[in-house]
Amino acid sequence: MIAKLVDAVFGCWHNRYSFPITIRPNSRNRSRPSTAAALTGMYVVCLDCGKELPYDWREMKVIGSPSQARQYAQELATKQAA
Ligand SMILES: [Zn+2]
Repeated sequence: MIAKLVDAVFGCWHNRYSFPITIRPNSRNRSRPSTAAALTGMYVVCLDCGKELPYDWREMKVIGSPSQARQYAQELATKQAA
């Protein structure tokens, strides 16, 4: 199921992104976090098409491929299970 969500996240191959945005889970006034943001806790928005992509603050890079995103999804699942 997570893999399907990850596939839905990708599909944008532009290279211009907004600055990284941190998820604020306690804010009720905003729409719920996107799937992309849930992977790492941060995301960037494509300036060309508005697509949201997960952003890894530790590596300081955009997660731009489904295989990378699956890796993060697995880490997230592991943390939630622990
Ligand atoms: Zn785009």
